[in-house]
Amino acid sequence: MAVLDDLSGFEFEDVMEDVFRNLGYENVRQASRTADEGRDIIMEEVVDGTRRGIVIECKHTGTVGRPVIQKLHSAIATFDFDGPKRGMVATTGRFTGPAREYAERLDDTDDPYPIQLIDGRDLREIADEVGIDLYNGRIEILCTQTHRPFDPAGDIDAPVREAFRDVKNIDPARLPEPHAQASLEPIVVVTARADATFETSVGIIHRLDETTSFVVHAGRTHPRVLDNDVSRLVTDNLRRTIELDERALEAEFDAVDVNRFGQTETEYKEWTVDRLREYHTTTVTYTGDNNVTYNKTCEPTQSDIAVQSVTPVYLPDVRQTTRLQQYSYPYQYYVAGPSRITTEDGIHRCVHCDDESASTFTYCDHCGSINCETHIQTERLEKDPVCTGCAITERFALKTKYFSDEENLETFREEYEAMAPHRKAMENKPLAASAVISALLVVAMLLVSSGLL
Ligand SMILES: [Zn+2]
Ligand SMILES: [Zn+2]
Repeated sequence: MAVLDDLSGFEFEDVMEDVFRNLGYENVRQASRTADEGRDIIMEEVVDGTRRGIVIECKHTGTVGRPVIQKLHSAIATFDFDGPKRGMVATTGRFTGPAREYAERLDDTDDPYPIQLIDGRDLREIADEVGIDLYNGRIEILCTQTHRPFDPAGDIDAPVREAFRDVKNIDPARLPEPHAQASLEPIVVVTARADATFETSVGIIHRLDETTSFVVHAGRTHPRVLDNDVSRLVTDNLRRTIELDERALEAEFDAVDVNRFGQTETEYKEWTVDRLREYHTTTVTYTGDNNVTYNKTCEPTQSDIAVQSVTPVYLPDVRQTTRLQQYSYPYQYYVAGPSRITTEDGIHRCVHCDDESASTFTYCDHCGSINCETHIQTERLEKDPVCTGCAITERFALKTKYFSDEENLETFREEYEAMAPHRKAMENKPLAASAVISALLVVAMLLVSSGLL
């Protein structure tokens, strides 16, 4: 982890914040200490039901001596926390002998503010443990968990076969294997609590106590909150994720893309805090003691928002393309095991008019197209479906007839020529029906005029 040594002091604190949050400490945050240029990390742990406050001094230096430990000891004493407190000093370097002796003595004398020392070697072990990786000199979220890209109880083509099931004139069992591409999308689930009270001279005018979870697409571009359905897919299945195994995925899919997380946990945390501050800002109208009505904008401060957890996970975005003659049909969905959300369904879409709302879709075996009702016809000779795109047409009995090719048209021409007149008329049923009705009317009129009716 050589890159750790190149970080500036400021970034080092960000890294440590991520590390401690990953280790499961709660309310991990940075605070600037007065009378000291450094920024501490403060966080909490719950031991046997007691919440304990921890103040951490981060030192991105070669050696840390005894004065640093002493100074932290008095900082813990003045740290405003309702409960027991302890300290930690984390460094990328090492501690001097006197520094270690001082910390050991605090332990031996049962000092109320013991201090734990973490040196560079400890840090490497911890970072390995929590799976934090360094990439291009930046700490990056290294995510090892993914939602299942397919349901092992079925197989990866099952969603496509299911989509083809209601397409007429095609047998889903005889479909060619679709080309399958899996993109593992970087997602973070952030949970944060907003806790604030807003007071004026007339007392509390607004109170805020709300825990919010976001599901954020955490790619290279700006963080983007996912829509409700996709968010639910992610959170509902969060306890059923599997270890990411790229090689195993490559064996199942034709192409696998594991997308990197664009920002650090700290950046997502800051983004969440900003977003929630904005989200919770509200204008409250209240009446003062002088009976005058006031408007006050209540905006939570940075410390009113506590990010409780940042959980990275991959969400597979699977795109399967089925090639049928000259057409290819994409089918794309976010997936978590047996659950999925379709984002593109090219199987239920007419190739001629892009209609996706038709009540039936029919496959044209002659060219491979899938068609809405208006773009599918019946081949006159073979009586199977043919699309308007590939059919050739000719009018018989004033009605357009569809043929898959010239040969079928020619065969039908001959059949038509040989037909009896009433059979020819039946080639245009509505016309034939109206002809029958007019003939009956003529007969009726004749009967009436002849005095028989
Ligand atoms: Zn159509
Ligand atoms: Zn066709």
